[in-house]
Amino acid sequence: MGKKGRIFSGMRPTGRLHLGNYLGALSAWVELQDDYECFFGIVDWHALTTGYEETEIIRENVREMAIDWLSAGLDPERCLIFRQSDVKEHAELHLLLSMITPLSWLERCPTYKEQLAQLSEKDIRTYGFLGYPVLMAADILVYKADTVPVGEDQLPHLELAREIVRRFNYLYRPTFPEPQAKLTPYPVLPGLDGRKMSKSYGNVILMAEEPEETRRKVASMITDPQRARRKDPGNPEVCSVFALHKIFNLEETEGIDVDCRRAGIGCVDCKKRLADKLVEYLAPIHERRRIWAKDPDAVEDLLAAGAAKAREAAAVTMAEVRHAMGM
Ligand code: ADP
Repeated sequence: MGKKGRIFSGMRPTGRLHLGNYLGALSAWVELQDDYECFFGIVDWHALTTGYEETEIIRENVREMAIDWLSAGLDPERCLIFRQSDVKEHAELHLLLSMITPLSWLERCPTYKEQLAQLSEKDIRTYGFLGYPVLMAADILVYKADTVPVGEDQLPHLELAREIVRRFNYLYRPTFPEPQAKLTPYPVLPGLDGRKMSKSYGNVILMAEEPEETRRKVASMITDPQRARRKDPGNPEVCSVFALHKIFNLEETEGIDVDCRRAGIGCVDCKKRLADKLVEYLAPIHERRRIWAKDPDAVEDLLAAGAAKAREAAAVTMAEVRHAMGM
């Protein structure tokens, strides 16, 4: 009723989520769940594109991801949360779209070559990996989603989805809307070492991180390397601790900036203040996590209920698609 549109977004269940995932994606999803009709998919088939050799952990990862999402504040009463592989329509649409997607569109995708080079220890020169953006297009289009919250890095994939839409609508009949990106409003969160927080860099604070572990991680962060002694003035601009203060401790940032430059505060204290803020920030997330983690059956039930509703919407689209194609 009175919704602004329909959203699909997903994440690959490849491990526990960290604060970057929360700030860069989940917190935005939480804010969207009332204004849009939201479909949030744990895209386990996508996890196979790079992880086809270790499939036994995917099931567990799906459940953990659902718990991370719920602990972030996604509310199954206000949005649909489901496992992609429970909705077979994603696979059917993927197959049909793969028939009309020129190979050259996939091969020229900037992320394709990049990932091939980056993940050189894995053999991902597979049909499935090349076709990953087609599956992503199917994920979105099977719900006729018009809005897709994404990070900047996903824009080429979304453009490809729009090209596929135009081609489908032209070849058969106008069926799909062209999905538009909704860029997440938050900056990229730096990790413990100052680079982008990412599980592949091992520099993360997990959403589920225990307070002691958060404190230990923050205490081990590198600060301004020029500041060898407590009485040396520091330079906050090159300090990863300060970079996190700017995000999680805005009200004290100015004071810390001044104090650091005149050696009025030491790194140990500065880190302690950051750790306190992070622990405080994570507390409501942990509170919700405790409730859901106690009840794995309830999590499975809500995934099943989400999938049932998602299937209903997907079935409507697929009937239209088959008809448009004359199948
Ligand atoms: P990772 O880099 O840890 O593998 P993913 O690529 O699986 O994370 O990202 C999942 C979602 O979280 C994406 O929407 C991505 O844009 C967002 N995200 C990941 N890391 C960060 C970060 N450091 N800052 C902001 N958003 C992030």
